[in-house]
Amino acid sequence: MRYAGIHPLADRFGRVAVVEAIRNVLAEHRKTSGAAGAVAIGENDVVAAVADRLQGRATPTLRRMINLTGTVLHTNLGRALLPEAAVAHATLAMRHPCNLEYDVETGGRGDRDNLVEGVLTELTGAEAATVVNNNAAAVLLVLAALAWEREVVVSRGELVEIGGSFRIPDVMRSANARLVEVGTTNRTHPADYERAIGPATAALMKVHASNYQITGFVADVAETELATIAHRHDLPLIVDLGAGSLIDLSAHGLPKEAIVRDAITGGADIVTFSGDKLLGGPQAGLIVGRRELIDRIRRHPLKRALRLSKITLAALEATLLCYRSPDQLARTLPTLRLLTRSVEELRALAQRLQPALAAALGQGWQVDIAEVASQVGSGSLPVEIIPSIALTVAQSGARSGKALAQLADRLRELPVPVIGRIAEQRLVLDLRCLEDEPAFLATIGAMAAAA
Ligand SMILES: *Cc1c(COP(=O)(O)O)cnc(C)c1O
Repeated sequence: MRYAGIHPLADRFGRVAVVEAIRNVLAEHRKTSGAAGAVAIGENDVVAAVADRLQGRATPTLRRMINLTGTVLHTNLGRALLPEAAVAHATLAMRHPCNLEYDVETGGRGDRDNLVEGVLTELTGAEAATVVNNNAAAVLLVLAALAWEREVVVSRGELVEIGGSFRIPDVMRSANARLVEVGTTNRTHPADYERAIGPATAALMKVHASNYQITGFVADVAETELATIAHRHDLPLIVDLGAGSLIDLSAHGLPKEAIVRDAITGGADIVTFSGDKLLGGPQAGLIVGRRELIDRIRRHPLKRALRLSKITLAALEATLLCYRSPDQLARTLPTLRLLTRSVEELRALAQRLQPALAAALGQGWQVDIAEVASQVGSGSLPVEIIPSIALTVAQSGARSGKALAQLADRLRELPVPVIGRIAEQRLVLDLRCLEDEPAFLATIGAMAAAA
C-alpha cells in the first residue's frame, strides 16, 4: 500500500476491504473527473474517501432512533423496549452455551417451551402454554392445529386487519380453516353463533378489536357467554387478544386493556397475545390455555417452523420474571415506565431541553412547550389517549409547510435520527419516550455543528 495513512484502516477493516475501497474510490474519481483522471487526486483525499467508504459499509442498516412520535409501542420503530434484565439474559444466551433443550437435572433432552411455560401459566392462570414467533404465527398455528379443514365461527364485527397485512380471513385461509361469519358489523347476538354451529364446526373464535372501536348501536357477545355456548356444543373458544396485558393497567392510572387471566377465567380455552405489545417483551406469540389443546398445538408440524430462537426465549423469560415483582414493574418494564411517566416529569424535561433545541435549530424557528396526547400504539387502546408534553417547533416568520417537512428531514438525517410528527403547522416532539437526555442533546448538537 502506497499511502501511509491507509495502514490504520487496513488494521481495522482488513487488507481485502481496503484494497477494494481504494480501487472503487479511484474508479469513481476517474469517472467524475473525465478523461483518464485529468484531475489528479491527492493522497489525503484518497485516504479520507476510503475511510468514509469503509466506515459506511461497516455500519449496520438497523440503527438506533429517538422516538418522539408520542406512540409508545410504535410498530415501525420496533415496538416494546426490553427490560434491562431481558437484554442481559439475551446476551448471555448469545454468548454462552445454554440449556435451551437440555434437562440439567437428568442430563437428557429438554423442551424449549419449558423455559417459559411455568411462569406463563402462573401469570395467566392457564393450564399450559407454548410460544411462537409472533401473535400472527400464534393464531395461524392454533387454527391449523385445531380447525384444519373445519369451520371457525367469528363475528363480522371482529374480522379485523392489523397493520402489516394480518387479516383474520386471510389467516383462516392459510390455516386451511373455513371462516363462518356471523352477525353484522355492529351487532352480533348469541343466537347468531348458535345457528352457525354444525357438524363441521371446530371452534368459536373471538378477536379483540385492537385498532378500532365501533360505537353507537352495537352489541357483541361477552366472552363468558360465548364460552358457555361453545362448551354446550363441546367446542373450544379461541380468543385472540392482540395486546393482551398480564396486569390490570388501570391500577397504574392507565386505561383498562383486556387481561389474559380474565379471558382464561371467563372460559376461553385458548388465548393468544403478542410478546412485544403491552407485555413489554420481545417479538413473540404467546399461546395459553387447556393442556390437551396446547399439546395438540405443540405437536403440529408448523410449531417447529414457527418456534422461537434462544435469544428471544431468553429475553421473554427474563421479561416474564419481572412480573413476579409486580410493584416494581413501573420501574423495570420500559413500556409501563414510559406509559406512566407523569406530565410534571415531562414538563420539567421539556423545560431543560427547550433552550438546547432552540439553539441547535438556530434563527427562524420558535420552540414551545405544549400539552399533547400520547398513544399506546400497536393497536392497544386505540381511542384512549395519555396526556403528555411536547416540544413544538414552528417557523417564527412566514409559514410554509415545506420548511417544516425539511426540518423533519433534517432531524431524520442526524447521527441518531429523531422522529416526531407534523400537526397543525408545527413539528411535534412528544417527550414521553425520551429517557436518554444526553443522547438527544448529542444528536441535536450535530445539527448545530452542521449549520
Ligand atoms: C397485533 C395483533 C395481532 C398480530 O400480532 P403480532 O404479534 O404483531 O404478529 C393479531 N391479532 C390481534 C387482535 C392483534 O392486535
